[in-house]
Amino acid sequence: MRESLLAESRAKCIKENLKRIREEVLSAALASGRSPDAVEIMAVTKTVDAPAINHAITCGIHLIGENRVQEYIAKKDGIRADGCRVHMIGHLQTNKVRQAVEHFSAIQSVDTVRLAREIGKRAAEAGKVIPILLEVNIGGESAKFGFDCRNTTDAVYEIAEIHNLKIMGLMTVPPILDDADDNSTFFSNMQRLFIDIRDKKIDNVTMNTLSMGMSADYKQAIAFGSTLVRLGSAIFGERTY
Ligand SMILES: *Cc1c(COP(=O)(O)O)cnc(C)c1O
Repeated sequence: MRESLLAESRAKCIKENLKRIREEVLSAALASGRSPDAVEIMAVTKTVDAPAINHAITCGIHLIGENRVQEYIAKKDGIRADGCRVHMIGHLQTNKVRQAVEHFSAIQSVDTVRLAREIGKRAAEAGKVIPILLEVNIGGESAKFGFDCRNTTDAVYEIAEIHNLKIMGLMTVPPILDDADDNSTFFSNMQRLFIDIRDKKIDNVTMNTLSMGMSADYKQAIAFGSTLVRLGSAIFGERTY
């Protein structure tokens, strides 16, 4: 009894959060002169259990993001498929690439050319073409994964040559600042880099996805052209590890 009440209030919460987020996404898109459907909402489900993920799917979520291959494999049988796509968004180790290629429909966290080559190799073995995003370390933080923004264009040219991969765009996690408003410089730099690369019209590259914006700063990210916001705590509440 108590458990089901708890589950019920949790489901209600997720539903209300998603309703509010959709309104915010809509108004942020319109405010910057963009089409309301220009921005996709990803539910980031690290540490979130399958029942909560299923509530989000019931409420219309079609895309989820996981940070760890093992965590996703452990809970995937409990998740309702229902046409919901799953992207890898966390740092990917070479020895997990084969499983990542098997379980994810795209990999957003490609942070080295070497990793891209490994994904291409495993995708070829599986007879798949894997859509990927290049992760950019836009704040130039030494502790963070991702391409330096000065090397990203060269990396796109190099990775575009690899078979069984398709570059769809860029992803970033900007530095955590006290004032989320200060992220605008990073978002603006990402937008410029994204447009620069898109305008080069590189073979085998379709720059249609700019994945940036998380719970604290997605409205701003949308103002700078984000096409995909990755939201965890705004949907599911604070994470408990
Ligand atoms: C955890 C995570 C998110 C979501 O973070 P929230 O602040 O909870 O919205 C987005 N992107 C990546 C890569 C993450 O690891």
